[in-house]
Amino acid sequence: MKTFFAEEQERHDPKSFLSSGAPKPNPEVPERTTRLLAGAKAAGCSIERPKSHGLRPIAAIHTSEYIEFLQRIYARWRLIDGSSAEVIPNIHPIDRHGTYPASAVGQAGYHMADTSCPISEFTWESACWSAWTAISAADDVQAGASSAYALCRPPGHHAFADVAGGFCFFNNSAIAAQRLVKSGSRVAILDVDLHHGNGTQGIFYRRSDVLTVSIHADPVRFYPFFWGHADERGEGAGLGSNLNLPLERKSGDEQFLAALSAACRRVEAFAPDTLVVALGLDAFEGDPFGGLSVTTDGFARIGEAIAELRLPTVIVQEGGYICDALSDNLTSFLGGFSAKHSI
Ligand SMILES: [Zn+2]
Repeated sequence: MKTFFAEEQERHDPKSFLSSGAPKPNPEVPERTTRLLAGAKAAGCSIERPKSHGLRPIAAIHTSEYIEFLQRIYARWRLIDGSSAEVIPNIHPIDRHGTYPASAVGQAGYHMADTSCPISEFTWESACWSAWTAISAADDVQAGASSAYALCRPPGHHAFADVAGGFCFFNNSAIAAQRLVKSGSRVAILDVDLHHGNGTQGIFYRRSDVLTVSIHADPVRFYPFFWGHADERGEGAGLGSNLNLPLERKSGDEQFLAALSAACRRVEAFAPDTLVVALGLDAFEGDPFGGLSVTTDGFARIGEAIAELRLPTVIVQEGGYICDALSDNLTSFLGGFSAKHSI
């Protein structure tokens, strides 16, 4: 399997992060890609540089005003007297029916859901390459590869069509899925990150042509709080095309694999041509977020179960934070997947 990776993704280097109101170092650090790249190599992947794809495939998912915001906000922010070193919002609209703000501060609040996605000098460049990495992997599968791994950073699944959040700017999994849809493929997205894929859900919530399924820690007391509950099933034409499988905190391999079995049955019923896996490794028992208790061996079993769907598969990296086993967890997932995957 090819791994797609661009070094430009390492230039985004967020410093700050508020957790339960307390300032903390941002855990979405460039070192993640070093660890993940080592994990992909250990699984036998060849490394390939993605192509740049311009803004058109990104604009198939994200609004033009949001794309322009991400491109220009850092330079505009620096012109504000006394502004912070990174773009961080301090005011948000309580609903989105008011006037679109003209000011940098107003737009930051409009387009950024929380404080975990600070924007600095190189955020735009890294976010574009992250999206292009996912697109290149999707194109590889569309061209006939049975699977491809997109080593994306920053991650994407918390980004909505016009809102950043949870370390995410462009929704790489959604962009990859839309790329495949445009090529005539019927697509399901299976999100196994610790956190609910709220941005992905939001993007496809009223669509019936893309199935979104997410397994995650119960958001009742966990990020992203407002989404990820079992009764969110889609709306309008999309009703029934979204499945959330929240797990109790600290659930381990057996509970995760039972939910994955239900997820895979739903994917099979949808009968997609191509699968996009939003691969978070932060469900790991030793991940700093500590939400679930999946083991390193558990990731191999998750990979095996997904492989048994026998679908062309684009694997898109989402979360998974610095811990001793981060590389091994990726190797374990890719190894389990590759051992069982055939189409
Ligand atoms: Zn996560």
